Amino acid sequence: MAKIPINISTGTIQQEEIIVGIDLGTTNSLIAVIHPDTKKAVALKEVDQQTIVPSIIHFGESISVGTDAKDYLLTDAHNTIYSIKRLMGKTYGDIENADYFSYKIIDNEQKELVKIQVGEKFYSPIELSSFILAELKQRAEHILKTNVSKCVITIPAYFNDAQRQATRDAGKLAGLEVLRIINEPTAASLAYGIGTDSSVEKNIAVYDLGGGTFDISILTISNGVFEVLSTNGDTYLGGDDFDKALFNKFVADLGLNEEELLANKELTQQLRLLSEEAKKVLSKADHFSSEFAGEKIVISKSEFEALILPIVNKTIDRCKSALQDSELTKKEIDVVVMVGGSTRTPLVQKMVADFFEQEVNTSVNPDEVVALGAAIQADILAGNTKDVLLLDVTPLSLGIETMGGLMDVLIPRNSKIPTQAGREYTTQKDGQSGMDIAVYQGERDLVSDNRKLASFKFSNIPGMPAGLPKVEIKFTLNADGILQVNAKELRSGVEQSIEVKPQYGLTDEEVEQMLMASLTNAKEDIGTRALVEASTEAEQLIMQTTDFLVKHKTFITDAEVAQTKEAIEAIKVAVNEKNKDLIQLKVEALNEISRPYAERVMDQAVANAMKGQQI
Ligand code: AMP
Repeated sequence: MAKIPINISTGTIQQEEIIVGIDLGTTNSLIAVIHPDTKKAVALKEVDQQTIVPSIIHFGESISVGTDAKDYLLTDAHNTIYSIKRLMGKTYGDIENADYFSYKIIDNEQKELVKIQVGEKFYSPIELSSFILAELKQRAEHILKTNVSKCVITIPAYFNDAQRQATRDAGKLAGLEVLRIINEPTAASLAYGIGTDSSVEKNIAVYDLGGGTFDISILTISNGVFEVLSTNGDTYLGGDDFDKALFNKFVADLGLNEEELLANKELTQQLRLLSEEAKKVLSKADHFSSEFAGEKIVISKSEFEALILPIVNKTIDRCKSALQDSELTKKEIDVVVMVGGSTRTPLVQKMVADFFEQEVNTSVNPDEVVALGAAIQADILAGNTKDVLLLDVTPLSLGIETMGGLMDVLIPRNSKIPTQAGREYTTQKDGQSGMDIAVYQGERDLVSDNRKLASFKFSNIPGMPAGLPKVEIKFTLNADGILQVNAKELRSGVEQSIEVKPQYGLTDEEVEQMLMASLTNAKEDIGTRALVEASTEAEQLIMQTTDFLVKHKTFITDAEVAQTKEAIEAIKVAVNEKNKDLIQLKVEALNEISRPYAERVMDQAVANAMKGQQI
């Protein structure tokens, strides 16, 4: 009998668990989902119709987040935390513009991650971000009337591993399973439908001008995989600078004494808000007029544009650098996508369009575009969008076991998928008809330290002398992370293949542990690899020399045979002792002994060949 899950609080039939997309921004954050009916991405709105949640936390009698907390920015600055994203994964030594923050950042250790002091308590940026994420989660649950525990979170393309990990951890702390962290420009492109058709190859410029930060990213998409070619920007440049320019102009026009004005916090805030309002009005109208402290304020669009021109020019300089670093020309950029509230300013749109010599894409709400893209990615992960490829890299290296139990990596970790790699191997023994192929995942040099995914026997290799068969092992990793292993003997065409699911059953923590282990054991691994290689080489040399003695005994003296046997024994002892240096020394000694008779045999072979004979 089929079970029908009912949501007890609403009495409705519970749908499959929803995965939300989250834009965790410096100034504002928001959450989006795929609408169950329209199948389109939508930003979630509370009853107040607001989609945006200010990324602000206030510590008072209780902790408030968002619009409620924003009101405390002026009245209780020490206990009000903003721009926490700027501190994610950072040590005190990493922080520029420390006086930008009005709250207390603790600097007891340059190398440790920063903490923020609020009253008697210390919080990490991870904990503080988790408050914002928890608020978003709660909001989503309230609006959707269902439990929300899985998400995709966006981050700037330039975020390093520490910052990415910190974002993941913040999600975990907020009770969210972070299925994927994706780059903001990638999300913005997805929201514009770029990348959802895997057959299309495109170069994309994503221009993101928010309130306090500017990012330009050049991406390329092919086979459904986004690659960041270059990024540039300014972490302290944005729409707030437009407001400041207007604020200063109004102060001058009104003949206000700036010092006196700044001493009056309330009046200052009023003028700040008025400046922002003027800016927003001028995105649509040619004039703005209002009153301030009983005086009339008037500004035209062209005056405003003259004021902000130097600021917008700075962003264009950054675009130039990003384009140069991407090694693409303007003509090679197929799409320009606009992100961030400040791209509503017409001068910004015009200057970016002029720079890239093409129209810019502004049709998706620039505040919501990143969150909408995250929701689309979430839907892909939920498996609802079957015709779209997963955009991913493989988290661990994939390879096969070679002689001596060594890992031979065919697809290194962080390779973009889908991907393919192949390598040729051969047999060790004359007439060898089969080969054991064992597939492993991991970063360690010895397969025994890695995770075995599968093994199979490649059989029916036609009888040939050792070293003659050419066995090509090919790995094909498709976009779903499914690995196909193919073995083919190229001389005969004999072929065999199997399918493996490499990611199956590995949690993020396990992946992390495996990576950590590879780092901590790197030194030991190098030593082990060198020993295994030396031993394998030595054993092969013993085999070849013993064969040689039998095949060419007429050319070798008894004394030479005795010496050779002695040298072989010495190698065997060194191998048993697992002494790499000694093995190499003894191998060299054997080579010294065999060189004269090997040369004699070669000379004879050449002489016979000259006579038309073969040896
Ligand atoms: P974001 O950080 O992407 O949320 O962008 C916020 C910035 O966009 C702030 O500086 C806002 O003042 C600015 N902004 C919002 N609406 C407009 C508008 N209509 N015209 C110009 N700037 C705007």
